[in-house]
Amino acid sequence: MKPCEHCARSKPLKRLLKPAKITLEKTVTGRSISREIIHGHKCEECGTEWAPPLQLHWFDLEIAEELASAGPITAETFHLLRAALRMKQTDLAALLDRDNVTISRYETNKLEVPIETYYILGLLIEDEREGNHFHRDRLVRIRKFGRPNEVAKKMAPVPNTTKKE
Ligand SMILES: [Zn+2]
Repeated sequence: MKPCEHCARSKPLKRLLKPAKITLEKTVTGRSISREIIHGHKCEECGTEWAPPLQLHWFDLEIAEELASAGPITAETFHLLRAALRMKQTDLAALLDRDNVTISRYETNKLEVPIETYYILGLLIEDEREGNHFHRDRLVRIRKFGRPNEVAKKMAPVPNTTKKE
Protein backbone atom coordinates (compact mmCIF):
# COMPACT_ATOMS: atom_id res chain seq x y z
CA MET A 1 0.00 0.00 0.00
CA LYS A 2 1.10 3.54 -0.78
CA PRO A 3 0.74 6.63 1.42
CA CYS A 4 -1.90 9.18 0.46
CA GLU A 5 -0.10 12.04 -1.26
CA HIS A 6 -2.94 14.37 -0.49
CA CYS A 7 -2.73 13.95 3.28
CA ALA A 8 1.04 13.65 3.30
CA ARG A 9 1.24 17.19 2.00
CA SER A 10 -0.77 18.69 4.83
CA LYS A 11 0.06 16.27 7.64
CA PRO A 12 3.39 14.87 8.79
CA LEU A 13 1.86 11.44 9.34
CA LYS A 14 1.60 9.20 6.30
CA ARG A 15 -1.90 7.89 5.78
CA LEU A 16 -2.50 4.61 4.06
CA LEU A 17 -4.65 3.95 1.04
CA LYS A 18 -7.07 1.08 1.34
CA PRO A 19 -8.39 -0.96 -1.58
CA ALA A 20 -11.90 0.18 -2.39
CA LYS A 21 -14.58 0.17 -5.02
CA ILE A 22 -14.63 3.65 -6.53
CA THR A 23 -16.56 5.48 -9.22
CA LEU A 24 -14.94 7.31 -12.12
CA GLU A 25 -16.95 10.20 -13.46
CA LYS A 26 -16.56 12.56 -16.37
CA THR A 27 -18.85 15.19 -17.84
CA VAL A 28 -18.74 15.30 -21.62
CA THR A 29 -20.91 17.58 -23.77
CA GLY A 30 -23.09 18.22 -20.75
CA ARG A 31 -23.61 14.52 -20.08
CA SER A 32 -22.24 12.73 -17.05
CA ILE A 33 -20.65 9.34 -17.68
CA SER A 34 -19.61 7.13 -14.79
CA ARG A 35 -17.99 3.72 -14.33
CA GLU A 36 -17.40 1.66 -11.23
CA ILE A 37 -13.83 0.54 -10.66
CA ILE A 38 -13.41 -2.49 -8.43
CA HIS A 39 -9.66 -2.30 -7.92
CA GLY A 40 -9.47 1.31 -6.80
CA HIS A 41 -8.01 2.85 -3.65
CA LYS A 42 -9.42 5.26 -1.17
CA CYS A 43 -7.74 7.22 1.62
CA GLU A 44 -9.57 6.50 4.86
CA GLU A 45 -8.52 9.84 6.26
CA CYS A 46 -9.44 12.32 3.55
CA GLY A 47 -11.56 10.23 1.18
CA THR A 48 -9.37 10.90 -1.85
CA GLU A 49 -9.87 8.20 -4.46
CA TRP A 50 -7.31 6.67 -6.80
CA ALA A 51 -7.76 4.51 -9.84
CA PRO A 52 -4.99 2.49 -11.50
CA PRO A 53 -3.61 4.48 -14.50
CA LEU A 54 -4.57 1.71 -16.89
CA GLN A 55 -8.17 1.85 -15.68
CA LEU A 56 -8.23 5.60 -16.27
CA HIS A 57 -6.89 5.03 -19.77
CA TRP A 58 -9.61 2.44 -20.47
CA PHE A 59 -12.28 4.77 -19.14
CA ASP A 60 -11.06 7.54 -21.46
CA LEU A 61 -11.03 5.15 -24.42
CA GLU A 62 -14.52 3.91 -23.63
CA ILE A 63 -15.88 7.46 -23.57
CA ALA A 64 -13.92 8.26 -26.73
CA GLU A 65 -15.40 5.31 -28.59
CA GLU A 66 -18.88 6.39 -27.58
CA LEU A 67 -18.18 9.92 -28.85
CA ALA A 68 -16.55 8.58 -32.01
CA SER A 69 -19.58 6.55 -32.95
CA ALA A 70 -22.37 8.81 -31.72
CA GLY A 71 -20.83 12.29 -31.91
CA PRO A 72 -21.31 15.17 -31.68
CA ILE A 73 -18.35 16.47 -33.71
CA THR A 74 -17.14 19.43 -31.71
CA ALA A 75 -13.86 21.00 -30.64
CA GLU A 76 -14.34 19.36 -27.22
CA THR A 77 -15.03 15.85 -28.48
CA PHE A 78 -12.18 16.06 -31.00
CA HIS A 79 -9.84 17.03 -28.17
CA LEU A 80 -11.10 14.17 -25.99
CA LEU A 81 -10.55 11.66 -28.77
CA ARG A 82 -6.97 12.84 -29.27
CA ALA A 83 -6.32 12.89 -25.53
CA ALA A 84 -7.69 9.35 -25.16
CA LEU A 85 -5.20 8.25 -27.82
CA ARG A 86 -2.49 9.96 -25.75
CA MET A 87 -1.23 11.68 -28.84
CA LYS A 88 0.30 15.13 -28.93
CA GLN A 89 -1.15 17.65 -31.38
CA THR A 90 2.11 17.48 -33.34
CA ASP A 91 1.97 13.66 -33.57
CA LEU A 92 -1.61 13.69 -34.79
CA ALA A 93 -0.85 16.49 -37.25
CA ALA A 94 2.00 14.45 -38.73
CA LEU A 95 -0.17 11.35 -38.96
CA LEU A 96 -3.01 13.20 -40.68
CA ASP A 97 -0.73 15.25 -42.92
CA ARG A 98 -1.90 18.54 -41.44
CA ASP A 99 0.07 21.28 -39.77
CA ASN A 100 0.03 21.70 -36.00
CA VAL A 101 -1.90 24.94 -36.23
CA THR A 102 -4.79 23.17 -37.95
CA ILE A 103 -5.13 20.61 -35.14
CA SER A 104 -4.99 23.41 -32.59
CA ARG A 105 -7.73 25.29 -34.47
CA TYR A 106 -9.96 22.21 -34.43
CA GLU A 107 -9.63 22.04 -30.66
CA THR A 108 -10.20 25.74 -30.05
CA ASN A 109 -13.26 25.87 -32.28
CA LYS A 110 -11.63 28.15 -34.82
CA LEU A 111 -11.91 25.61 -37.58
CA GLU A 112 -14.60 23.02 -38.22
CA VAL A 113 -13.44 19.45 -37.67
CA PRO A 114 -13.85 17.58 -40.99
CA ILE A 115 -16.05 14.51 -40.70
CA GLU A 116 -13.41 12.23 -42.23
CA THR A 117 -10.80 13.42 -39.75
CA TYR A 118 -13.18 12.65 -36.90
CA TYR A 119 -13.89 9.28 -38.47
CA ILE A 120 -10.17 8.43 -38.65
CA LEU A 121 -9.79 9.26 -34.97
CA GLY A 122 -12.64 6.84 -34.30
CA LEU A 123 -10.76 4.10 -36.15
CA LEU A 124 -7.63 4.79 -34.10
CA ILE A 125 -9.68 4.61 -30.89
CA GLU A 126 -11.19 1.30 -31.96
CA ASP A 127 -7.71 -0.11 -32.69
CA GLU A 128 -6.37 1.10 -29.35
CA ARG A 129 -9.18 -0.71 -27.54
CA GLU A 130 -8.43 -3.86 -29.49
CA GLY A 131 -4.72 -3.52 -28.79
CA ASN A 132 -3.41 -2.97 -32.30
CA HIS A 133 -2.17 -0.11 -34.48
CA PHE A 134 -3.67 -1.16 -37.78
CA HIS A 135 -4.93 2.22 -38.97
CA ARG A 136 -2.04 4.17 -37.48
CA ASP A 137 0.45 1.99 -39.35
CA ARG A 138 -1.57 2.31 -42.53
CA LEU A 139 -1.57 6.10 -42.28
CA VAL A 140 2.19 6.11 -41.78
CA ARG A 141 2.56 3.90 -44.86
CA ILE A 142 0.25 6.05 -46.96
CA ARG A 143 2.21 9.15 -46.03
CA LYS A 144 5.38 7.43 -47.22
CA PHE A 145 3.82 6.83 -50.65
CA GLY A 146 4.04 10.52 -51.28
CA ARG A 147 1.97 12.08 -54.05
CA PRO A 148 3.48 11.19 -57.38
CA ASN A 149 0.73 12.96 -59.36
CA GLU A 150 1.29 16.22 -57.57
CA VAL A 151 5.01 16.04 -58.22
CA ALA A 152 4.39 15.15 -61.85
CA LYS A 153 2.10 18.15 -62.23
CA LYS A 154 4.69 20.49 -60.78
CA MET A 155 7.41 19.07 -62.98
CA ALA A 156 5.30 18.83 -66.14
CA PRO A 157 6.79 20.75 -69.04
CA VAL A 158 5.00 23.82 -70.28
CA PRO A 159 2.51 22.60 -72.91
CA ASN A 160 3.72 23.11 -76.41
CA THR A 161 1.02 25.06 -78.20
CA THR A 162 2.78 25.28 -81.55
CA LYS A 163 1.10 23.23 -84.26
CA LYS A 164 2.67 20.02 -85.40
CA GLU A 165 2.68 19.20 -89.07
ZN1 LIG B 1 -5.63 11.21 2.28
